[in-house]
Amino acid sequence: HNCRPVGDHSVHYYFLYPEMFGVCCVTLQVSGEILHLVFCVCISGPASVVTMLVAPLLLVLFVPFSPSSGAQLPNQAKAKDLPIATNGQPFPWDRMRLPTTVTPLHYDLAIHPNLTTLDFTGVVRIELDVHEDTNTVILHAKQMQISDVFLLAPEGIKRLKVLEYPRFHQLALLSDSVLIKGRKYEVHLAFAANLSDSFHGFYKGSYRTSSGEVRVLASTQFEATFARGAFPCFDEPAFKANFTIRIIREPRHIAISNMPMVKTVELPGGLLEDHFDTTVKMSTYLVAYIVSDFKSVSKTTQHGISIYAVPEKIDQTAFALDAAVKLLDFYDDYFDIPYPLPKQDLAAIPDFQSGAMENWGLTTYRETGLLFDPEKSSASDKLGITKVIAHELAHQWFGNLVTMEWWNDLWLNEGFAKFMEFVSLDITYPELHDDFFLAKCFEAMEVDSLSSSHPVSTPVENPTQIQEMFDDVSYDKHILAITINSCDVVVFIQHYVCLYIQKWYSGDELDVRAIMDTWTLQEGFPLVTVEVRGREVRLSQERYLKTDDPSPSEGFLWQIPLTYKTSASNTVHRFLLKTKTDFLFLPEEVDWVKFNVDMSGYYMVHYAGEGWNSIIKLLQHSHTALSGNDRANLIHNVFQLVSIEKVRLDTALELSLYLSRETKIMAVTQGFGELVPLYKLMEKRDMKVLENQMKVNLFQDLIDQQEWNDSGSVSQRVLRSYLLLFSCVRNYAPCVTKATQLFNQWKDSDGTMSLPVDITMAVFVIGARTPEGWDFLFEKYRHSLQMSVKSRMKTAMAVSPLQDKLKWMMEQSLIGEIMKTQDLPDVVVSVSKNPHGYQLAWDFLRANWHTMIKKFDLGSSTISYLVTGVTNQYSTREMLDEVRSFFGSLTEETGSEMRCIQQAYETIEDNIRWMDKNLPLLQAWLDKRNRRVSHEDL
Ligand SMILES: [Zn+2]
Repeated sequence: HNCRPVGDHSVHYYFLYPEMFGVCCVTLQVSGEILHLVFCVCISGPASVVTMLVAPLLLVLFVPFSPSSGAQLPNQAKAKDLPIATNGQPFPWDRMRLPTTVTPLHYDLAIHPNLTTLDFTGVVRIELDVHEDTNTVILHAKQMQISDVFLLAPEGIKRLKVLEYPRFHQLALLSDSVLIKGRKYEVHLAFAANLSDSFHGFYKGSYRTSSGEVRVLASTQFEATFARGAFPCFDEPAFKANFTIRIIREPRHIAISNMPMVKTVELPGGLLEDHFDTTVKMSTYLVAYIVSDFKSVSKTTQHGISIYAVPEKIDQTAFALDAAVKLLDFYDDYFDIPYPLPKQDLAAIPDFQSGAMENWGLTTYRETGLLFDPEKSSASDKLGITKVIAHELAHQWFGNLVTMEWWNDLWLNEGFAKFMEFVSLDITYPELHDDFFLAKCFEAMEVDSLSSSHPVSTPVENPTQIQEMFDDVSYDKHILAITINSCDVVVFIQHYVCLYIQKWYSGDELDVRAIMDTWTLQEGFPLVTVEVRGREVRLSQERYLKTDDPSPSEGFLWQIPLTYKTSASNTVHRFLLKTKTDFLFLPEEVDWVKFNVDMSGYYMVHYAGEGWNSIIKLLQHSHTALSGNDRANLIHNVFQLVSIEKVRLDTALELSLYLSRETKIMAVTQGFGELVPLYKLMEKRDMKVLENQMKVNLFQDLIDQQEWNDSGSVSQRVLRSYLLLFSCVRNYAPCVTKATQLFNQWKDSDGTMSLPVDITMAVFVIGARTPEGWDFLFEKYRHSLQMSVKSRMKTAMAVSPLQDKLKWMMEQSLIGEIMKTQDLPDVVVSVSKNPHGYQLAWDFLRANWHTMIKKFDLGSSTISYLVTGVTNQYSTREMLDEVRSFFGSLTEETGSEMRCIQQAYETIEDNIRWMDKNLPLLQAWLDKRNRRVSHEDL
């Protein structure tokens, strides 16, 4: 190993995991105050092909404040250029990002929420580090009343003047005297605000007990820019500081925060004040506190771990507790950096917008993300819970300990945590392993192929843009963007640092830095076209793009480490494609060649000439010559190529026919993934006849083989629930009959009969088709305490054909009394996928847009999810006009700048093009196939 340490200290860690990894190397370099962390892993795939996965992470630990990250106070700026504060005076700072002249060292924060009047008051004292003489301190505060602002200086206490500039959520504290560089100062501010009515900042939540009593709680969600709504602070990730928190509460409640409680003090009036230990240095977005009537369960191994939930659900926490203990211990060893806090609490919050949040020492979750009832939860619930805990706990190191300096590098955080979900699951719960990795890859490609997609590292400034960074590309692409195939090598160069070099292929020196740059600095990903002529294989690359505007694809060039297999050789061959076009020569002529072996690379492949036909032949006669992942990859690529008109639809459909013999979950799921949207597009055009012909059961054999119970491995169980649901939704008579029978038995038992978990979705969907069945299901939904059962009931009700029920459900979710507002996005999107509901969902979205952007926050992934989810199956010019006219009427404040809107237009245009081109082909292919089938029948 050729590692060349550059900094003052450098430590290399190598780990060996024989089952899964070749070798894993983590290099820590400390140079000055900067810690460079370089990480690479080699994973061996199922065919014991070793795939190198290189994730170079250059993260900054306890970032020193370099002047380049912020900017200087505009001392010389003329007053007329400055923004105007709320009181009409010039505001002395004109940027979104805070200046770095003064930075926080320590916050002493006291908070008193009142859960009856639903507001809170607080006092914060911030110890400052003055880097340059100044008489101005700029920090964040949003929608709160500020009072009693003082400077605690060595020469005494002074009142400060306060200016507010709401556009950037900033306060300017003005001092008569100069704050001198190097001296210690503190500012003191009192503040008051309402508990937020949304799902971010310091917000109120509530839940109903089984006896119908409504109980209120208050909890925090600060990522990305909402700490400033809870207390005045320097609300940017690089401004790390220590926090000492005190919370005042009533005796009937408890308070928890990032650190353990050290003592409780009785206050006059019967209130109690909990004092929490001082945190390590951390970013504001990771601060958390909750005041509630939660109960907890705990376990102490290497660390103290507790799970908090509402009292009536505390008996559903055993699985999460066990998982958290295992995972935290695993990470401790894996990173070889001990978990730095004395405890880790995991709290299930009844009102929670996203999936979970990695607050340091107090991770928060949706109830469905943490609560598990072994009797009523399914295999995929278990998988989901384990993954979400694995993700949030990985952030305790990546993100919390080591933090990106600014939000444009969010992908480092999220990509790494996402990657760790797979690594940690394989180690801690091998029985849960499935190839969900590949599925994530397809999802990222879907977003990344649009021309409004952002490169992995993007400049972002305003809060809406910061919020919108939290999409699939940031979460998924990094893992894939930087996949390099190799069995004996990795090279990695980052900035001025060179580390870990060996040779990659036939003596070529591989410049990984150059390869990496083509992936992380360019948006999108390449399409490689392969054409075999005798022994010669012609290769070319272009940007894969889903719009018909050719300009965005020019000037893109990737260095692509290709892998391939042929009919003559089962070993994995490699070729680095660096130019627009190139050739390679095979040792002999072959029947077929398959590139991107096991889909380990982030690129699409088109087999030109006779290429696709030879693959179709192979799949029809001996599909097992390729791995399940390879087959899934082919299905994905061929349908994607149809959408950009490189391949005809009938070719893709012809390829899909082999699916009647497919049993591997990845390939079956991918087949569903491509074919179901076709059915859906047709449903919305009322093309019943065509649709019915289309559904001729490719999957019938597989469906008929399913047993209506919970037996089998995790992947068999996931596949079973998927297949039975599909067959019931698509009215496959034997399944509908069986499900109707089971629903009636369950209803007759007043819901006490226990149904096998994996089939409940299918049974509920059939039950919800009649008004009586729907009402019965809703009653059971209302009173159920099992989160996973509730969410299945909710989904089943949303796919019912009963339009008045669908409408009522969306309205109730918005009101939030008998259905939770956190579930509104899922309800609306489910309704929009429902052939009887898509118009209702669109009307609802338009009518309630302003309420929803306030509730869920503009730019949040929830809002993009709503926009995308509701519009992505529209395929007519009328719908495109309607969508354009609505979104076109928005202003900057109401969302006109959101990237997801542009993406929605592109998707609909795409669908229209698809329909225009492919409908006639589809009809012809079906006719031909019907003739062929009836001929075979004879
Ligand atoms: Zn995350």
